[in-house]
Amino acid sequence: MKAVVQKYGGSSVASAEKILNVARQIEKKIKKGYKLIIVVSAMGKTTDGLIKLAKEITSNPNPRELDMLLTTGEQISVSLLSMAIQSFGYKSKSLNAFQAGIKTTENFNEAKIKSFNKKRILTLLKSNDVLVVTGFQGITDEGELTTLGRGGSDTSAVALAAALGFNCEIYSDVAGIYTIDPRLHPGAKKIKNISYDEMLEMASLGAKVLHSRSVEIAKKFGITIYCGSTFSDEEGSYVMAGSKIIEQPSVTGCSIMENQAQVFIKNIPVDYNLIKKLFEKVALEGLNVDMISIINTGNNLEVSFTIVEEKKKHLEAALKKVFRGLGKWQIVYHTGFVKLSVVGIGMRSGIGVAASFFKAMKKIPIKLVTTSEIAISCLIENQYKPEAVKAIAREFKL
Ligand code: ADP
Ligand code: ASP
Ligand code: MG
Repeated sequence: MKAVVQKYGGSSVASAEKILNVARQIEKKIKKGYKLIIVVSAMGKTTDGLIKLAKEITSNPNPRELDMLLTTGEQISVSLLSMAIQSFGYKSKSLNAFQAGIKTTENFNEAKIKSFNKKRILTLLKSNDVLVVTGFQGITDEGELTTLGRGGSDTSAVALAAALGFNCEIYSDVAGIYTIDPRLHPGAKKIKNISYDEMLEMASLGAKVLHSRSVEIAKKFGITIYCGSTFSDEEGSYVMAGSKIIEQPSVTGCSIMENQAQVFIKNIPVDYNLIKKLFEKVALEGLNVDMISIINTGNNLEVSFTIVEEKKKHLEAALKKVFRGLGKWQIVYHTGFVKLSVVGIGMRSGIGVAASFFKAMKKIPIKLVTTSEIAISCLIENQYKPEAVKAIAREFKL
């Protein structure tokens, strides 16, 4: 059986007309003799709208109830797309997480996929041309609905492809993976082939073109992800093993992570066990922190790190539990930052990347810098973003 998993994102299914357009793309592949499993996100900005609605009810929605709400978005798009495919004369069936047996862990809002009901999916695929499966959602062993975190439909698609041994194609409103988000830098170049490690770093540092966990899964199972445009036939990009890519520039791309806050926790007694507890709690709560620094003033410890602004309340609630009973500790936020990162496997062997980075950024007041084996990141004020992106693009020919 020739079969493929394709994923269409929210902007690709934002209206009835766009859903019919996606059905036409699917028809082309059916005519080439393929069976298809289609993973879709909610229509347009549906998920944003649902979150906004929940926040109008309460500033801190219960995670289980939030997932109950958010999973409705994908159920709308799968049914409509399946109807569209049927209206073209093909056999199609839509499936939600329950029906496809998408089992996940129990952490609401950030669940991880454990397994699919492969037998049921393959049996249904035999008697249909297309199965249209909800992205982003799953069920626990107890039958609770979960979601995989924002942008998680990419992960649903790659995990399905890995489980079934099919190829995976991800379609969105851009024609592939670019050196920089083409919305921020319209002159960005398309990257034909990008390694898992670079894409993982780009995605976790803010390039939302792919959900970072989808890249992790692709790497683990050796799946090549094709990323292309829903709206054109232009050749897209491939995410694949680095060893298959012959040319490696020292810097492949630049990612921007928006809405960053720098958090300072001051007046902590000099007791490193408290620091251990702090970061254990942060991890337990699934809070993603970065750019950590610890200063010992002699009398106290001061910890600082970055976090996405919208997690401030969540963080504060977690910290209160860790520092309960410690009178003096204090939390201060500085907001309005972005994290800009350059990424490239070539950094492992190339030298002088840091020198070029600081040369490009010489007019920009950098607050903090961190590095990994294949990335350099800096925290800058929002207002410097356009200038910094331009300077980095020029320096590294992105
Ligand atoms: P979908 O709804 O189809 O999942 P997303 O909005 O999640 O699509 O992801 C596509 C968007 O990712 C593009 O519109 C683009 O603005 C953004 N993006 C960020 N970084 C990059 C990059 N390096 N290359 C391509 N697109 C990027
Ligand atoms: N609809 C979900 C979101 O907006 C999942 C996705 O788009 O991948 O985050
Ligand atoms: Mg997405």
